[in-house]
Amino acid sequence: MSGRVHVLIAGGGVIGASVASALARRGVDGIVVVDLDLAGVYASSELNAGGARATWWQRVNVEACRHTLDFFRAHAERFQFRELGYLWLYDDPDLWARALDKRALQDEAGLGVEVLGPGEIPERCPLVDRALDELVGATFSPRDGLVNPNAVRAWYREDAEQRGVVFRNRHYVSGIETALASAEGGSARRVSAVELTGIRAGDPSDEAGALRRILTTHRVPAGLAVDESRLECEIFVNCLGAWSPLLSAKIGVRDVTEPVRRQIALVDVHREDLAPGVAPERMGMVVDASGLYLHPEGRFFLAGYSPPGDAPGYDFSYDGDGFFERELWPRLAHRASSFERCHHVRGWAGLYAVTPDCSGIVGGVAGFTNLYEAHSFTGRGVMQSFAVGRELAALITSGRFESVDLSPLTRERFADPARWVREDLHI
Ligand SMILES: Cc1cc2nc3c(=O)[nH]c(=O)nc-3n(C[C@H](O)[C@H](O)[C@H](O)COP(=O)(O)OP(=O)(O)OC[C@H]3O[C@@H](n4cnc5c(N)ncnc54)[C@H](O)[C@@H]3O)c2cc1C
Repeated sequence: MSGRVHVLIAGGGVIGASVASALARRGVDGIVVVDLDLAGVYASSELNAGGARATWWQRVNVEACRHTLDFFRAHAERFQFRELGYLWLYDDPDLWARALDKRALQDEAGLGVEVLGPGEIPERCPLVDRALDELVGATFSPRDGLVNPNAVRAWYREDAEQRGVVFRNRHYVSGIETALASAEGGSARRVSAVELTGIRAGDPSDEAGALRRILTTHRVPAGLAVDESRLECEIFVNCLGAWSPLLSAKIGVRDVTEPVRRQIALVDVHREDLAPGVAPERMGMVVDASGLYLHPEGRFFLAGYSPPGDAPGYDFSYDGDGFFERELWPRLAHRASSFERCHHVRGWAGLYAVTPDCSGIVGGVAGFTNLYEAHSFTGRGVMQSFAVGRELAALITSGRFESVDLSPLTRERFADPARWVREDLHI
């Protein structure tokens, strides 16, 4: 595959697919999305927890999520969007004071966040029935909920394909060529072409292993490479998620994003072991004061916890029973008698793309005339995906954000800590 395209999007996860759909909806043609693995075996988009909320502490995050949740609501059946709320438990008086303070911002966005005293929590969520005296309060945000992220990504892709976007699977972006864009002003550079390595589809039983090797060592083994090709493009968009810093490094842009492993697990509780009044089908997300989060997932519960000491790296290993017994079960049983007897079913690890202020990066890259980016959404890429795609498409085609001002998310903010978008309500 060599030649010339109008827009080249690197990364076909939920963000790349959303950008592709939004650009195509604005009438842009000649769009190609390239990805090492469109099945997303190691893409964060396929490995996440399915939480969707607009209750954040930074306005830009509230707005980007609010618009995306409105979109989920409009396709609720297709995306399995369930508006079942987020219950957030606090045991730290300082954090609690900040949570109360931020309600004004959240209510401005129509989120109707409720405040609960410790004694009122079991009434709202009968699952939470232990150690209530340790808590100082809780918020319940009824308009938040749960979504099927795979269905969301599939929608963006289908929509984009119907409008002529081409998705190229098994193509690894291995190099970037840039040129001086002197005619376009100053010393700005432009991305002129992207080098791709095609990947041989191997023994299906080994494919996931081969992909994992490429995505953790950032190299395509000679035996797997089928061809080298080159695509010239007029506009280039970096949507590589946790791998975005590797691409930035190739063009001399120092990135601040770090990939960090996040583990989640499915937990089985027999119906007869659930405390009286617990109805999983009516429950949304619960975020415990310990940092553990959980929600019902089919016939199981899905629970996650991020040990603060996890070092950055392209690490997809799952610690299995050790993770469940050390990190999950003690926290679950401490807060809910229903988890006194429960079983670890299975779990997995995916990558968060973490920035120093825990907010995403969206916009044009300074010093380049045709390079854009949308990545590093920490734990919120799915729930911001629609607004990010739509607004980046607006910026690319009309030079400005239109419905949600995403300019606070430009990467230039990291040069000045006063401009950081410090988002502390993340898990
Ligand atoms: C455990 C966990 C729980 C999470 N929970 C939530 C949640 O509840 N709600 C929420 O909104 N978000 C959550 N997130 C975050 C969310 O999943 C991400 O923010 C989002 O999926 C990022 O999407 P993306 O398209 O930027 O990246 P990705 O989905 O990772 O896509 C990047 C793509 O780039 C491809 N790629 C990488 N390098 C190359 C290369 N050189 N050439 C070609 N292709 C390449 C990969 O194959 C991949 O398909 C969670 C994440 C994890 C890991």
